[in-house]
Amino acid sequence: MKYIYITGRGRSGSTVIDAMLGNSKSIESVGELVSGMGRINAMCSCGKMMKDCNYWIEIRNDFESKFSKNWDEFSRDTVKSGHIKYFLSTLFSNSTFYKVLAKDTQLFTKILLQGVGKKALLDSSKNPNRALFLAKFYSDSKIIHLVKHPDGVAASKYKFIGRGKGYKFLRRTYLNPKLAPLYMTVEAISWMVGNSMIGLIKWIKPDKVMIVKYEDFGSRPEFIFKKLSRFLDIDLTEIQNAVTNGHPLTFGHTIGGNGVRNEETFVFNTTKGKKRPMPAFYKLLIRIFCWPLMLLYGYKII
Ligand SMILES: [Zn+2]
Repeated sequence: MKYIYITGRGRSGSTVIDAMLGNSKSIESVGELVSGMGRINAMCSCGKMMKDCNYWIEIRNDFESKFSKNWDEFSRDTVKSGHIKYFLSTLFSNSTFYKVLAKDTQLFTKILLQGVGKKALLDSSKNPNRALFLAKFYSDSKIIHLVKHPDGVAASKYKFIGRGKGYKFLRRTYLNPKLAPLYMTVEAISWMVGNSMIGLIKWIKPDKVMIVKYEDFGSRPEFIFKKLSRFLDIDLTEIQNAVTNGHPLTFGHTIGGNGVRNEETFVFNTTKGKKRPMPAFYKLLIRIFCWPLMLLYGYKII
């Protein structure tokens, strides 16, 4: 059963792209599965806690009845597959751990998709190591490498720092606002490094990975939906029509990710947040570190 995975930098629009694609009659979006599946006390987008949501209760019971592994073990292994520190070992090794996990994940995907009658699962956990694991060990996987202009990504992070919410980096939050220039430098370098790592996965498994520019959904929807349909082998015309006509879309039972999911419906719009202010100094910093990939992805430097 097909497993679609969205990878890329945080704040690149993955939550909304994930939710949008989940409106396809062929695709079932589960949100950020890696971080979400072990947190049964966290909210599902249906408004119930995951442990009280019938959708997840059924999947969990079905999984445990058909498999020797319990849900918690499976969640733990899934979290491990998303950790960046294993990137090199995933790249070079052929470990039994990953082979077994791929089998378990296949079973999980089958159970979930049979329940909803769809043909592809969509997970937007973003971690490059998970993308590498799926590309290498899960035969029917497709990786969407979502990229967004680094100004947009960094402006979003800058807004959080300005509001006192700190800077999140590698699962930790740094709260000193005086260190904003340092955080923003780290952010620019990580945009470059993170996207390069995914570029490496594409280099190894070219048929499994496709670069998708977030901005294209707004500026040239016909092009991007056609490209995605071909890559995923799934007709996305209905979604394209809903997006271009501004029709409301719904969230399913998605877990993990940010709070946007907790609305009942949403209208897809790529211009939201475009004009977030950010000092020119940071824009210069971004260009110093990110220009090679900016050029490669077709973003203007000036
Ligand atoms: Zn739910």
